Amino acid sequence: MRLPLQIYGSPSLRRRARQVPEVDREVRKLASDMLDTMHLEKGIGLAAEQVGADIALCVVEIPPEYDRDPSGRRLNPGLRMPLILVNPRISCPSTQSAVAEEGCLSFPGIYVPIRRTAEVKVQYLSLENEERDILCRGLLARAIQHEVDHLNGVLIIDRIPVLRRLLLLPRLLQLKRIASQERSA
Ligand SMILES: [Zn+2]
Repeated sequence: MRLPLQIYGSPSLRRRARQVPEVDREVRKLASDMLDTMHLEKGIGLAAEQVGADIALCVVEIPPEYDRDPSGRRLNPGLRMPLILVNPRISCPSTQSAVAEEGCLSFPGIYVPIRRTAEVKVQYLSLENEERDILCRGLLARAIQHEVDHLNGVLIIDRIPVLRRLLLLPRLLQLKRIASQERSA
């Protein structure tokens, strides 16, 4: 089931997510609806905050054609997509980082360059209530860092220089207006 997306200006996006003590039917249903919503919106990741929920849950799906290094080799061949991450925690085993343009379903039409760690270790709870940990590289590592930011109430505009944010101000105000109209509708 498609859920309504929260766009910039919605207070939901600034909340910190609650940890999930145990995955139950309600959490599984939300995860399934978030996957539907992500697919319909053509995103590669979605956090619960973006659909107005406040638990630490995100979904990520990198199409195989984007999961490659410049020589065409798969970066995360052993990981089955989509990934459904409950209570994700990331650590950074390497100091390498990379800059790339990033968008966000909550900021339609906005793309900004963001520096992120190139590789992350992710610990999370699976939908079967199993603790897992995985190593992620490339776009997948970037997407997971983006989603974990959402769970902490951090948005892409917090990760760019002030001057660049000022240039985006007209569009940001426009999004805020749309968000408040949707709330009062
Ligand atoms: Zn986002």
